[in-house]
Amino acid sequence: MLKIYNYLSKSVEEFKSLNPPTVGLYTCGPTTYDFAHIGNLRTFIFEDVLQMVLEANGFEVKRVMNITDIDDKIIKGAKEKGLPIDEFSKPYEQAFFKDLEKLNIKSANVYPKATEHIGHMVKYIEELIKKGMAYVEKDGSVYFDISEFRGYGRLSGVDKRELKSGTRILSDEYTKDNIVDFALWKAVHLDEVGYDSPWGRGRPGWHIECSVMSQEYLGQTFDIHAGGVDLIFPHHENEIAQSEGKTAHKFVNFFVEGEHLLVSGQKMAKSAGNFYKLKDLEDKGFDPLSFRYLSLTAHYRDKLNFTWESLKAAQNALNNLREIIRDWDDPKIGCAQFEQDFVEAINNDLGMPQALAILWDMVRSDYPTSAKAKTILEMDKILGLKLDEILGKKIKVSENIMKLVNERENARKKGNFKESDKKRLEIKKLGFEVEDTSSGPKVKVVNKGRSALKVVEDIITIDGPTSSGKNSVGFLLAQKLRFKYIDSGMIFRAGCLRMLKENVSADELDKILDIYKNLDIKFENGSGWKMYLDNEDVTDKLHTPQISSLVYVVAAKPQVREIVKDTQRKIAENGKVVMSGRDIGSEIFPDAKFKFFLTASLEERARRRFKQLKKEPEITYGAVLKDMMERDKYDSEREASPMRIPKDAIVLDNTNLDIADTVTEMLKHLKDYA
Ligand SMILES: [Zn+2]
Repeated sequence: MLKIYNYLSKSVEEFKSLNPPTVGLYTCGPTTYDFAHIGNLRTFIFEDVLQMVLEANGFEVKRVMNITDIDDKIIKGAKEKGLPIDEFSKPYEQAFFKDLEKLNIKSANVYPKATEHIGHMVKYIEELIKKGMAYVEKDGSVYFDISEFRGYGRLSGVDKRELKSGTRILSDEYTKDNIVDFALWKAVHLDEVGYDSPWGRGRPGWHIECSVMSQEYLGQTFDIHAGGVDLIFPHHENEIAQSEGKTAHKFVNFFVEGEHLLVSGQKMAKSAGNFYKLKDLEDKGFDPLSFRYLSLTAHYRDKLNFTWESLKAAQNALNNLREIIRDWDDPKIGCAQFEQDFVEAINNDLGMPQALAILWDMVRSDYPTSAKAKTILEMDKILGLKLDEILGKKIKVSENIMKLVNERENARKKGNFKESDKKRLEIKKLGFEVEDTSSGPKVKVVNKGRSALKVVEDIITIDGPTSSGKNSVGFLLAQKLRFKYIDSGMIFRAGCLRMLKENVSADELDKILDIYKNLDIKFENGSGWKMYLDNEDVTDKLHTPQISSLVYVVAAKPQVREIVKDTQRKIAENGKVVMSGRDIGSEIFPDAKFKFFLTASLEERARRRFKQLKKEPEITYGAVLKDMMERDKYDSEREASPMRIPKDAIVLDNTNLDIADTVTEMLKHLKDYA
């Protein structure tokens, strides 16, 4: 049984259609004077989900969505640009349809345009006048007389007794402070955009448009009218008044309204600079469907707070899902219990957040992937995440790319990392990335935003002498700031050791251990990062010249990189981090803010890495070590990139460097943290 909240009764009701299995659904469409913003798009996604849920319940939905191609804003915009109104609004209309497509929103059956229904509107208004529901003003404008309509205020809850008699409003958009007669037809001057009518030249108001077009395509009484809560008053209230005033029959059975989208807790407004279009999201590398996913994480009757972080989290979740299902077997049978739970959730007033949670429970369950595949396709009919395009589609890699992958692997084996990095980039440019796994390189499609992990908010990065280890600038700074501490070099070493244990023969390992036995490292502790977290002493033990030389021996093993990345990610999870060592982590945390660099070459290296990743991190500078400047100069020449000493960086004289003093000095520059 499908239950939906009906704004007319202010309660969740069982949905029944007037003419099963058909459902007439009218949704207010765009006004084509600008691009749709993400608040509009959230509403359109909710309406699409509503349609999908109705269809899942066996209904055949006839959906009508109007295009408001004439109104005050369009006329004003066209005038400013010196264009005829249709020429002015056409690009916005096209962009609107493109957005719908990108968000996988099913097309309506009809998209009627206001300008193509002027004749019908004039007739409709004539009837309202005949019935005494509307009156003509001296200037030739026609107003709806709300005192004549008994049910006025039923939907929005406004009180008609507040009506100031004899007052009226010409503007289409007004607030609850104005409970007045509203314009059905607006008289215009001869030089303005307008149409002929029995009352002189003019053009229709916005509200009449929706009454006329919805009833024309769906009949005088139809099942559902949907939109956003901002339309309840006056738009939907006025639609009811016009329609029921004319027909004396119920206009619509269900009014279903989606809540607002906020941006960082604020109402979206152009003046506030938090006004985003789908293109703004795409420009930042997000997949439009990540916005659809984000919209599904909130109930349609709850406000959704959009932040870039929440969008990133949605993108990550979607990418993870895609990665998981890519390897699944062909769909068979299905997981009945999960499917049942899912249907229950969506039928309970479109409980999409619950439905998503059930999807993830199912994905993580022990069912065979063939069963899960069947079920996820069923679920995606509602979710609309285009999972069918990914499911079971193990990546087809062309010979050309495989050749590059092999060349890269050969270069790696020979220790020619410059060459292997070059190949990696070439592969990436072709839309693929290589992940080194224990069973060799694995080729993946580059996912937009894939590496945009939410885990790290801010990274303070340090490199230079005395930057890492347990008695170091990095460690002390992390302690003072109560940040997590990542000693990249140490993790790298731990990773090497773990890799050795897993990948060399017992004989070889014995030989190596013999050399390092004085280090007393317990391999039983498991992975590198666990060793690190469980036993801080290991930090110092791993930071020795012997181990350093070992690192160079085993660093060529791709598995080490994976262990290191995984370890860093786990340590950094949901926090702020002081990261020491030359690994600036930009590959792992490309979206973190990098706040501090003890040397300049590191900053340069990070910049280059970010450039490769096409990211623009927020980098602020700290200190440069005096004697590191020579090394940096050398590094930057060797790496063929210009040296950049941050202008606002302090230069620390490290010929006589005191760690405690250095930390104090740095803290001054980190006022916002300390
Ligand atoms: Zn409307």
